[in-house]
Amino acid sequence: CGVFGIWGHDKAAELAYYGLHAMQHRGQEGAGVVVNNGTSLKSYKGLGLVNDVFKQAKFDELTGLVAVGHVRYSTQGGKVIENVQPLLFRAQAGSLALAHNGNIMNAHKLRGELEEEGSIFQSSSDTEVLAHLIKRAGNHVNEEIISNALNQLVGAYAYLILTEEKMYAAVDPAGIRPLSIGRLGEAYVVASETCAFDQIGATFKREILPGELVTIDDSGVKSTRFAMRGKRSMCAMEYVYLSRPDSNVNYVNIHTARKKMGMELAKEAPANADIVIGVPDSSISAAIGYAEESGLPYEMGIIKNRYVGRTFIQPSQELREQGVKMKLSPVRGIIEGKRVVMIDDSIVRGTTSRRIVHMLKAAGAREVHVRIASPAIQNPCYYGIDMSTKKELIAANNSLRGICEEIGADSLSYLSESGLEQAIVKDKTIHQGICTACMTGKYPVKEEGEKEISYMS
Ligand code: 5GP
Ligand code: SF4
Ligand code: MG
Repeated sequence: CGVFGIWGHDKAAELAYYGLHAMQHRGQEGAGVVVNNGTSLKSYKGLGLVNDVFKQAKFDELTGLVAVGHVRYSTQGGKVIENVQPLLFRAQAGSLALAHNGNIMNAHKLRGELEEEGSIFQSSSDTEVLAHLIKRAGNHVNEEIISNALNQLVGAYAYLILTEEKMYAAVDPAGIRPLSIGRLGEAYVVASETCAFDQIGATFKREILPGELVTIDDSGVKSTRFAMRGKRSMCAMEYVYLSRPDSNVNYVNIHTARKKMGMELAKEAPANADIVIGVPDSSISAAIGYAEESGLPYEMGIIKNRYVGRTFIQPSQELREQGVKMKLSPVRGIIEGKRVVMIDDSIVRGTTSRRIVHMLKAAGAREVHVRIASPAIQNPCYYGIDMSTKKELIAANNSLRGICEEIGADSLSYLSESGLEQAIVKDKTIHQGICTACMTGKYPVKEEGEKEISYMS
């Protein structure tokens, strides 16, 4: 998911729309904004892509100097409007809007306890739990109440919380999900990805730190801490796949990190081949890096139909396969008769790699050597990325040779864990750590009695 917030601009709702549009790749299931006109909060949201949702929006009715927005991507919790964020809760003493990126691992347990005590939930999303924890602690929301509520959560999150008076932004104690602050003239902006700032002409100021709660109102920005500052564990998949190449995550540019992953991969796993190609769009940077390091020419061997969305975020395997077919086409004139190195950023279920290898062979490739610019994904993610069961992960259930056979490649290699770390981590301070749990099994945040399936948002 992606979150966006703006405080102190007379075009708040419109700017939220532009910011969300820049982060469309972070979620395509639904989008929305909640605007604050100083006396009340108003919500506008819908299912589908940002443009489709906001096509109908009457911005002159979404007035106010403050807005928070959200793009949603999920597997659990259902594709229903109730789960589209920001969630808005009205109360006589004051309203509350929430936008969340991440996953609360103990949401199910907390929700059970809250329901036991009489709470009634509007949605099946894990995000709503925080609203109840906050509201139960008192009618007048403040830093202390929010901190206490956040301290009951186990998981990964970047939260935006809006009341009539203030906007709050918080990042989980391990700093797994990204969230940055910027300025646009006198206004403050907050976003999951810095590409949203560039889109609206805002300037990046800083990242919100693990365990930090930031309060924004007309008097400016105030920082408090709800959890001890620990080692940062920024999601490595933000760099591998999720974020846009023009974004910086934790002060590291995504394109640059991906290019280095490709360069490391070329050192670790060279191939006897004629050309290097990447799978658009997320693997292009790594393919350029691999080509540069290996000295092989980078070619455009596959083109993407730009009118098809991300294939991963589809409901069924059948649709996923169909999606890949519609989305990518081989450039026969480039591929025919060649020994090809095909770079992809990651393999999850193996659908993409298998289809592309077959497609390249059908287009006349003599050999296809698959090189993956991240380590094999063998473990589920409990922190909000859609890889929630081991069963679906091809690398959890097959050997390297087994996967190579399964996808029909002539050879297959993955980037090593240390190669990945070298590409992302600039200096080994506590601020620069990454989460690699889905690849290494080293989980930075654990919950007692963890289940295979968790709630996503
Ligand atoms: P697969 O086809 O193996 O199931 O998924 C891997 C492919 O899906 C890669 O090409 C990657 O770019 C793309 N992809 C889309 N969404 C995601 C995601 O959330 N995580 C990862 N690792 N890859 C994704
Ligand atoms: Fe990211 Fe993987 Fe960690 Fe999940 S387990 S937060 S996808 S690195
Ligand atoms: Mg891809």
